[in-house]
Amino acid sequence: MNKRAAVIGGGYGGLITAKVLSNYYEEVFLFEKDTLPEKPAERPGTPQAFHPHRFTVRGKEITNAFFPGYEEDLLSLGAPSSFQKTIHQEYPYGKMSFQYPRDDIKFSRSLLEAVIRERVRKIPGIQFFQNHKATGLLFSEDGRVTGVKTLESHSESSFEADLTVDASGRNSKLSDWLKAAGYAVPSEDEFYIHLGYTTQRYKLPSHLSHIAKTYDTIMLNALPSEQPFTLGLSFIENEIAEFFAGGIGGHYPPRDPDHFLKLFQPFPVLSDIINELIPLAGPKTFRVEKTYRRHYEEMADWPKGLLAIGDSLCIVDPIYGQGMTLAGIQAEKLDELLKTRTDNQEFEKSVLSAFQDIIYPAWWLNCAADLRWEGTSYQSERPLPMIAFGKKYMDLLLKHAVTQQNGKLYGLYWAVNTLSVPLAQLFQSGLAISILNSSPEGRLLLDELLTAENKPAEDIFRAMASSITGGQRIDGMVK
Ligand SMILES: Cc1cc2nc3c(=O)[nH]c(=O)nc-3n(C[C@H](O)[C@H](O)[C@H](O)COP(=O)(O)OP(=O)(O)OC[C@H]3O[C@@H](n4cnc5c(N)ncnc54)[C@H](O)[C@@H]3O)c2cc1C
Repeated sequence: MNKRAAVIGGGYGGLITAKVLSNYYEEVFLFEKDTLPEKPAERPGTPQAFHPHRFTVRGKEITNAFFPGYEEDLLSLGAPSSFQKTIHQEYPYGKMSFQYPRDDIKFSRSLLEAVIRERVRKIPGIQFFQNHKATGLLFSEDGRVTGVKTLESHSESSFEADLTVDASGRNSKLSDWLKAAGYAVPSEDEFYIHLGYTTQRYKLPSHLSHIAKTYDTIMLNALPSEQPFTLGLSFIENEIAEFFAGGIGGHYPPRDPDHFLKLFQPFPVLSDIINELIPLAGPKTFRVEKTYRRHYEEMADWPKGLLAIGDSLCIVDPIYGQGMTLAGIQAEKLDELLKTRTDNQEFEKSVLSAFQDIIYPAWWLNCAADLRWEGTSYQSERPLPMIAFGKKYMDLLLKHAVTQQNGKLYGLYWAVNTLSVPLAQLFQSGLAISILNSSPEGRLLLDELLTAENKPAEDIFRAMASSITGGQRIDGMVK
């Protein structure tokens, strides 16, 4: 067994990473800059926690594999189940309403983190160092990372570790630390999305508690030039309703209570509920001007003894609820690679490359969806394969599923978007051709593609599926 690992950050990614490492290291030190609350509570280091946080099916399954039965802890703390409740999704062109067949437990992000943190605290060998802000890395003379420097109040300390994992989230300073140590850090992919979220929580009075028993989620989805904001309602522990508004491309939802309330008035499915409620907390806002994807895997001289995980590597548009799932899939991969690790392998680089493959479909899907909005811009040296076609195609596919009330196709769209099913499945030629042929816009898009590629449609989609899945660029393809 290895001696000691250090994890920087005690959010979802740091906690699940500490759990994985505890199977391979005698000691795992977890450094968190905040005071960690004894009970579920918000804290400064995760300001996003006030806003709705949901697991994808895959995120839940991974979490359950590492923390079996964690949903029972959530239930015992008043969290609701989604079983047989209505999910109502509206789009400017139609609605999908269905009973959710799975027994998934819904939570506030603070509750989820508290439950997992308690599980992690009980694992022998893991020690929490709260109020310890990581301020840099320790390097050996041969360039290996040998631990972390921290600041607790005004007192500086150094902790040696055989492996250090940065899980310090969207404010990670890892690139700065590497640059300060003389490393050339590759440029990151930047996607300027100019996103705003506003959330308000309400306590459901007892005469309205049937609403939380009926609905899991109500969402009115934004669409460029038709509906600027996605508006939503969901429920967390203790019969608390959370209403939120999200917009991108500079459509920032208002933060003052009256204007926030007004957003919901044109939509009776939401206004009939929100108008009956008395606010509990909020509205609070969160902005994400830019999402990013970092490419540490491209560094030939990446130091041994160092890894990064979760939001430290990549953040995506929160509206799709993929962030914790990405961190979970990476933790699962880290576990798999630690199991088969050999002494002479470039272990850290192989982990970072594997993480990049995990991130890629989510990044591509986010770009395809959000580039539809004016005011967004993608800035990177690395082109995204098929993105111009993809953003139109993904829209047509969703519209087709909703207007045809095709539950199977709608389910596939979401299974891909929630990272349960490979992206390439949406680009199978039979499916793609039938979707494109079912509308005038689709036929136009297909004609453009056939003219540009000058190949049979089946060949184009086969190449497209492999290009999108593998993340490589295929010469000659429409970009
Ligand atoms: C508005 C919004 C809504 C979202 N909704 C969803 C959702 O529905 N589903 C979903 O899966 N994801 C959602 N996300 C994304 C999700 O919050 C993140 O992807 C997830 O928290 C990533 O986990 P992490 O551990 O990498 O980072 P975080 O959870 O942000 O944790 C980072 C931790 O590091 C600590 N830290 C930072 N710097 C230091 C330092 N120098 N030293 C020590 N500690 C440090 C912080 O205090 C924090 O505890 C949402 C994000 C936003 C902004």
